[in-house]
Amino acid sequence: MKEFEIAKKIGKELTEAELKEAAAKALGVKPEKVGQTVVVRRSVDARQEILYRYRVQAYREGEAYEPYQIAPYQDVHQAAPVIVIGAGPAGMFAALKLLQKGLKPIVLERGKDVERRKVDMAKLSTQGVIDPDSNYCYGEGGAGAFSDGKLFTRSSKRGDIREVLHQLVAFGAHPDILIDAHPHIGTDRLPEIVKNIRQCIVDHGGEYHFDSRVTDIVPGDARSMPGMTGGSETDRKGFTVYCGEKQYSAPKVILSSGHSARDIYELFQRKGWALEAKGFALGVRVEHPQWLINQIRYHGKHQPFMPTAEYAFVQQVEGRGVFSFCMCPGGILVPSSTEDGTVVLNGMSNAARNSKWANAGAVVQIEPGDQPAEYEGPFALMDFQRDIERSMFRYVQEHGGKHPLQAPAQRMKDFCRGIVSADLPKTSYHPGALSAPLHELLPEHVALRLRRAFPQVDRQMHGYYTNDALLLGVESRTSSPVRLPRDPQTLEHVDVPGLYPCGEGAGYAGGIVSSAMDGINCAEKCG
Ligand SMILES: Cc1cc2nc3c(=O)[nH]c(=O)nc-3n(C[C@H](O)[C@H](O)[C@H](O)COP(=O)(O)OP(=O)(O)OC[C@H]3O[C@@H](n4cnc5c(N)ncnc54)[C@H](O)[C@@H]3O)c2cc1C
Repeated sequence: MKEFEIAKKIGKELTEAELKEAAAKALGVKPEKVGQTVVVRRSVDARQEILYRYRVQAYREGEAYEPYQIAPYQDVHQAAPVIVIGAGPAGMFAALKLLQKGLKPIVLERGKDVERRKVDMAKLSTQGVIDPDSNYCYGEGGAGAFSDGKLFTRSSKRGDIREVLHQLVAFGAHPDILIDAHPHIGTDRLPEIVKNIRQCIVDHGGEYHFDSRVTDIVPGDARSMPGMTGGSETDRKGFTVYCGEKQYSAPKVILSSGHSARDIYELFQRKGWALEAKGFALGVRVEHPQWLINQIRYHGKHQPFMPTAEYAFVQQVEGRGVFSFCMCPGGILVPSSTEDGTVVLNGMSNAARNSKWANAGAVVQIEPGDQPAEYEGPFALMDFQRDIERSMFRYVQEHGGKHPLQAPAQRMKDFCRGIVSADLPKTSYHPGALSAPLHELLPEHVALRLRRAFPQVDRQMHGYYTNDALLLGVESRTSSPVRLPRDPQTLEHVDVPGLYPCGEGAGYAGGIVSSAMDGINCAEKCG
């Protein structure tokens, strides 16, 4: 097998004949001696002419090519149970791995199934009513279900990303995600995939319980449970997990409750189980007109058939990283608060990425110790995060806000110059924006670094620094501000054998794919 690269103008089809010819050249054989050709990667090259660059594997005639195979899911109706708390990417992929290992996942999810969840999210945007169990972060599919569905991860160390991508395709994602350098699914396609995953788990004997917020986790004697006759002493002790009055028992628990489940962190503190403050990133959502980003990224050569342009940046300002986060090309801004009295924003896009706007977080890395001195202990950064979210809400309410989730906002250049904007451009954010001094509402060290970073970004992306860009507060749920420490080998919580803190909420992942891979890794350790 030989790998080679071939480029083609975007909009023109790469034909079989062209592939064969290029493969023959790479292998040094005649075209009729070429066997399988497999495109393994496709990326946009907009440096000069706008091209797709393809990375291709070429096999000689007769040479074996083994496509990736998903391990079979087993029937687990009678198998030993494992409780999975949370049906986000970490929980869903942990449950799928449990099926493959012949263990029975019992998934407990505080929110509703993905269909009923849509109704609550509509109420959130139109009326500002936050259901504390069903919102943009909580419910089947977790924070990843109504998102852009970007599927990148920077960490190949965590495992084989193909395991996640191939399963997503098997459950309904477009096969292009297997080859695109920056794959994404889109919020209009994700719910169906999430439903198909659940159907597979239930069909094979796993259980899903919605409207089941976990209120307590009690390690205890579970010898009478089905499938509990063998195993180690720890296995036989097991856990009883409470969702109010309802209770479930299993030898092992995977805790994948996401970075917003502050009640779970509080439960750990009450129990005296270790947790620690962890850095996160804080800033604003920036919204530009998408045509402007297309113009910048494609140097004025964008055509409607080209992929909607995206961007990313990283700057160092005064010893801290300032970076773009979770960019949504052709997307919209959404209210992602989980608690009343707070304003938090995030972004999502449809598969076609065809809205008029481009949004992304612009955030500053916050390390333990960066917060004011009054915030202490393992919740120092979580409390700091929550207070900033509350201050955004308060500002709007005290200044004539018309919607409970309206966001304080400022034009980009006005923010950098410290001027309240006289008017605001249109925004995709349904609850609306209210002109506000974001440069004062954000912590000083965050505002200062953002004010320095935006003109610097313009040097790489000329046109980015403009008063047509709107900043909205606040982008604060970038990753978990708390870590649940675990043994690096067994992945069990350091104080609670048999309990696996997992995914973004445990502080070991960030984003859909890395959370899914962490779910797979934790399930792998369960038996
Ligand atoms: C609007 C939005 C857009 C995003 N876009 C992207 C993107 O394009 N690409 C990307 O990689 N990442 C994106 N993210 C981040 C991504 O969604 C998360 O990194 C990922 O979902 C984390 O997975 P997880 O399974 O660890 O946690 P979560 O997805 O947060 O799932 C946790 C689950 O646990 C449940 N839960 C919480 N507490 C309890 C409890 N006490 N009892 C029972 N259940 C509980 C929650 O309801 C939730 O379903 C986005 C996030 C948001 C909010």
